[in-house]
Parts: sequence; C-alpha cells; structure tokens
Amino acid sequence: MHPKSDPGSTRNDWFLPKDIRQQLEKHFQSLKHHVALELFPDTGRNREHSEYTAKLCADLDRLSDRITFTTHEADSARARELDITAFPTLCINPDSMHIRFLGAPIGEESRAFITTILLVSMGTAGLSPVSSDLLRELNEERFVQVFVNPSCPYCPGQFLNAVRCAIHSPKRVRAECVDSTENPELAERHNVGSVPHTVINNTFTQLGLMPEERFVVELLALRSAEDLLADGSLPGVENSKAPDHYGSLEKGEVDLVIVGAGPAGLTAGIYAARAGLKAVVLEKGLIGGQVALTPVVENYPGFATVPGKQLMDIMSEHAREYVPIREGEGVEHIETGERIEITTNRAVHSARAVLLATGSTWRKLGVPGEDTCFGKGVNYCASCDGYLYKGKRVAIAGGGNTALTDALHLRNLGVAVTIIHRRDAFRAQDHLIKSVEHAGIPIRWNTVVTRIRETHGKLAGLDLRNVLDGRESELDVDGLFIAIGQTANTDLARELGVELDENGFIRVDEAMRTNVPRVYAAGDVTGGVQQIVTAIGEGSVAAMSAFEDISSPYWRK
Ligand code: NAP
Repeated sequence: MHPKSDPGSTRNDWFLPKDIRQQLEKHFQSLKHHVALELFPDTGRNREHSEYTAKLCADLDRLSDRITFTTHEADSARARELDITAFPTLCINPDSMHIRFLGAPIGEESRAFITTILLVSMGTAGLSPVSSDLLRELNEERFVQVFVNPSCPYCPGQFLNAVRCAIHSPKRVRAECVDSTENPELAERHNVGSVPHTVINNTFTQLGLMPEERFVVELLALRSAEDLLADGSLPGVENSKAPDHYGSLEKGEVDLVIVGAGPAGLTAGIYAARAGLKAVVLEKGLIGGQVALTPVVENYPGFATVPGKQLMDIMSEHAREYVPIREGEGVEHIETGERIEITTNRAVHSARAVLLATGSTWRKLGVPGEDTCFGKGVNYCASCDGYLYKGKRVAIAGGGNTALTDALHLRNLGVAVTIIHRRDAFRAQDHLIKSVEHAGIPIRWNTVVTRIRETHGKLAGLDLRNVLDGRESELDVDGLFIAIGQTANTDLARELGVELDENGFIRVDEAMRTNVPRVYAAGDVTGGVQQIVTAIGEGSVAAMSAFEDISSPYWRK
C-alpha cells in the first residue's frame, strides 16, 4: 500500500507533525480494507473542533490509499440519510457499520480513533474468545454512547470496548464516542458526572473503564454484573460454559511474565529483554498506571514538568521497543509448578518467573453517599473529571502529594477548590505545599467529611466535622474529589501465598524477591515512598534478579 503523498514531506501544508505522520504511515501499512471517514462539521460553537477533525482526516486520507475522507453539510441529504443530529459528527464506514465520534477525536481519543481505523480496515474486532462467544448470543439492538473527555486516559479503552462489539456485530451494535465538552446538553441529559460514562440503549449506565468481558456481559443483559451474580445468571463466566472457552485460549511460553504496565512493569520489561529474557507485559487496564492519571509530574529527573500521561506514553513507547505489552489482558489465575502458568482472559502463559507490578488503587473514605454519588459528584481522578467542574466549587479530601497536585490542577482549570484535611499539617512535598499557599487555595484543617449529602441521586453538599472540637458544619460544593491514598492490589499475590506486610503491601527482599520462589514484586504494590523513580528502580532490580535466578536458581542452591 502506498501513501498518496510522501509523509516525510517538508511541505508545510500538512496538519500533523512529521514524526506523527511517519508513525501513522508505519501503522497504516497493515490496513487491508477501505475505510471511509465522513465528517459533518459544525459552523457554530464547535467550529474549531470541526476544523481540527477535518485537517486530521485530510492528512489520514493523504497518508493511505485505503482511507478516504469526505465532508457533508449539516443540511445535506447524506446528513438526513444517516440521521446526523450533533455537529461535528465523524462517521467511520457508515454504509456498513455505526461507529461515530460526536466531537473531535482529540487528545486521548485520537488513540481510540486510530485504533478504530486499524480494526475496521483489518476487519477484526479483536475481542477475546469469551467475549466473542457471548456476543454471538445477542439478538437485539444495542446503542452504546460513551461519554469522554480528551484528557481522560481511561476513556479510549471504554470506547474501544464498544467499537469491538460494533465491528463484531455491525447489525446489532452501534457505538458512539461523545465528547462531553462539545456536547454539554447531551452530557447533562445523561447526568454525566465522571468519564468514561457509558449509556446503553438510553437506559443502562456503566461508570468507568470496564474489563472487556464484563462490558460484553452487561451489554447483553443490560444489567450490572453484580446484579447478575447475585441472582446466579451471569452468562458464560460463572456458569459451566466457562471452562470450555479456555480450549480456545492462545498459549505462549516465555521466561518472565510481568503483570502491570506502570513504571515498574515497563522498566522491568526493558531490563528483562535487554538481559536476554523472553518477557511479556500484561496490562488489564491503563498503561502507565496511577502516573497516567497524574495531571503534572515535577520530580521526574530530566523533566522539570511533564503531564503524567505524556511521561508514561514516552516510557511505554520505549518499552515496546523491547517487549510486547498486551493491553486489555487481565490475569485471572496463577499456578506455580515446574513452570508458572498464568491464565488471562485471552491466553495461558507458561513462564519461568512472574513479576507482580500490580500497583495500587484509590482508597475510599467510607462515608455515606460515597458509593451512591460516585460519578454524580464524587470523583477520584482529577485528570479525567476536573474539567466537568470548570466554574464550579469542589472540595478535595486528603493532605498528601496527590491531593495537593490535584488541587492545583483543578485550580488551573478554573475550578474553585477547597482542601479538607484531617490534620493540621500536610504530608506532601514542601514544593507542593508552597504552591498551594501561593495559589491561595482555602484549606479546612482538622476536618473530616462525615456524609455526602445527596439530592435526586447527585451530590448536593458535604457534612463536615472538626476533629478537635467536634463542631459540625456544611460545605456547599458541586463535587468532591477523594485523594486519601492508595490500597495495594494484592489479590494475585494472596492467591499465590505471597507474604504481605502489616500495611497490606507485598513484602520483598532487597532483590525484589517475595517469599515464593520465582515470584517477584515491584512498584507501588510493595509500599514504601511510592515514587515513580523508586518504582523504576524496583522494576529494574526485579528484572535483573529474575534473570540471575533463572540462570542460576537460588532456591536450588
Ligand atoms: P498519601 O501520601 O498516603 O496521603 C494520603 C492523605 O490522605 C494523607 O494526608 C492522609 O492523612 C489522608 N487520609 C488518609 N486516610 C484518610 C481518611 N480516611 N480520611 C481523611 N483523610 C485521610 O497518599 P497520596 O497522596 O495518594 O500519595 C500516595 C503515594 O504516591 C505517596 O507515597 C506519595 O508520595 C506518592 N505521590 C507522589 C507524588 C509526587 O511526588 N509529586 C504525587 C502523587 C503521589 P494523614 O496525613 O493524616 O495521614
């Protein structure tokens, strides 16, 4: 396949920079079938986004003979034929499937857009065997709208869940990626309070990025997996069908399986491969882990200031030079024997060693209203959801580095933020404390949130208590961001009999070995100061230890 013009051209009528064009050209070499991009631009409020989309698509059209791009007026016959009601709308192969972007595929969504083009052109949904089998049972229509925000790293994964289903079952499943900022009325109508926010058939709602199989199960049933589990009707996963699916799982043999693609896992991948080990990195959710959700990183040597997501994109790009990173692949079971067998939703990996770089997840406050208002005023990710509160008032609970980083980010977005901290001093870095002081962000010291007040299923304010004098008060805010620390992800470790410390983190020695031979751990899951640089250090040590132990097993000495 030849590009219609030279992607390396220095002619300045390209919209995309030269390095991006060259990367895309490499990806587009795998295009098989024709992909039609049809844009219905906006000439009003979203004009700039329309222009961006048109320029981007025009470049893609020039980069590949397999891609064609056309635009149509809002009042054209084509717009009526395709029932276009929001502008801009970008349709992909609209004559054979329903995959649309309502709003520009900008920021994080550009990833989902390019992946969609590749999947559509290759004619493959790329679903796991389990999901594929389940989806074959769908005999009704499903209309999936995924509300997103360009700075949300979780959003592309959730939209791609919908895209894969729409490619697999084009007659049954329609998928739309709705940019919440460009479509505020639609977002308001569906009560979007955090992203990704998925609405199926205008009735069933999912909050957050779902593992693929769970997405498919809920798409079929229009009920949550918890509900289905409660009444014993979870299809294809909990019933007797499940073992059959393993027959179709891919099988692979490697030296080292690395679970988790945060800084520790990615670094371990680089070091393992460079040492000569055959390694693979498995990531069920977000490449980059918690760092990808950090608005700004200011203490990573070599970068005075860098968005966390950008840093992790650079790191994962580097790691991919050495090691495959299998996205969307969650480990379900690990069994140790002569070799270690790691069963995921897609494959069974037989390995000589395994590294748990499973990271940590947000800790909850545990107050009334926290769960019921999640995504409706209660949020944990300022990078993802901060923009929804522009011009509004929010509180942030916590006094560590995350709370202060997020407070500064929200403030920069134009959100009126108040910090609520349970003590009279922060545990954050001095530099951040000074920045918060300098920004004049109000702080409620010695205060805890006791209840999240709720009206019509939405956060309506906070009840607070001063821990010194017991005085109670109310805080009138539109949202609450919770940043009170992390809990280590240790399910797999516990299943393996790996020892944890008194705080629930994996106990490791100086070589990052756990108490179970051939099982290593690195990064946030081992506790400590939980910095990017320490995770990186631990990842490299763990990979080198795995290499040494595989070459000369210490447990047999
Ligand atoms: P953290 O350092 O553990 O801080 C958690 C904060 O939440 C503390 O101020 C704690 O109060 C408060 N807290 C905990 N439980 C609470 C509860 N139930 N109710 C009210 N408040 C509660 O967590 P983090 O800020 O998420 O950081 C996690 C790790 O990542 C840390 O090691 C941190 O250094 C690192 N990190 C680093 C950076 C950076 O270097 N720029 C950025 C983000 C995160 P007390 O102070 O009273 O315990």
